[in-house]
Amino acid sequence: MEVETLNPYDYSHIVFFTGAGMSAESGVPTYRGRGGIWHKYKWEEYACQEAFESDPEKVLDFHELRRIEALKCKPHVGHEIIAEIEKNHPDVQVITQNIDGMHQRSGSKNVIELHGSAWRMRCSSEGTVREDLKNGTYSNRKCECGSWLRPDIIWFSDYLDPAVTAKADKIISKANLFISIGTSGVVWPAAGYPQMARSAGALCVEINPEPSEQSDMYDIIYRGKASEVLGELFQVF
Ligand code: NAD
Repeated sequence: MEVETLNPYDYSHIVFFTGAGMSAESGVPTYRGRGGIWHKYKWEEYACQEAFESDPEKVLDFHELRRIEALKCKPHVGHEIIAEIEKNHPDVQVITQNIDGMHQRSGSKNVIELHGSAWRMRCSSEGTVREDLKNGTYSNRKCECGSWLRPDIIWFSDYLDPAVTAKADKIISKANLFISIGTSGVVWPAAGYPQMARSAGALCVEINPEPSEQSDMYDIIYRGKASEVLGELFQVF
């Protein structure tokens, strides 16, 4: 596979749009792909409000384990390349579907987390949100008010935060370079972002070893791994 180098300074507004495949090379499992979490666990028992209400401890145990596992993983060179470009460029934005905080750990600051963060907890009664960053294990499973805390992430049947999607829409509408990395393009509304970027006139690039549901939307497709393709695409180190 031949990768043509891009100069980030040829583009004024850059969006890196990432999915579970971006973290896969760091060792964080995907959900649907080969070896994905949902082959082993039923999401109905672990990743929806109904499951949380019927057995909060079981659901929290599951998500706590994901945090502990994520902490053992380290950002890879692909994350570092994105963070490095952001450091020196006036407008670089990461829009991620990942909840693992890996972009921030590699130094990215402009990160929109469409599906929330495993490192925040939300009171199930008051709706208040707090960071819980220190360890894999949760600092608290209950709020001071006595209600259970739930991970501040989007579960099946949850609605995305409209303020977050509005921000993402605005940024994509200005993009002139849109690089999608490691997303299967089946989870909406994120699956519509490549089309949105295309309509905005952005050069759209897909990096994924396998075809995605949205592959038709891209001008350039690289069938390779995130770290390898990003390393060739941007000669920043
Ligand atoms: P997905 O699991 O549906 O698809 C992963 C995609 O990554 C696949 O298309 C696969 O071919 C590709 N991929 C695998 N290895 C890759 C690599 N080395 N380089 C580039 N691409 C690679 O993931 P999705 O599209 O992000 O949707 C899943 C949903 O589950 C999202 O909503 C996300 O919030 C959530 N999720 C998050 C995490 C995380 O935080 N790390 C992990 C799993 C799932």
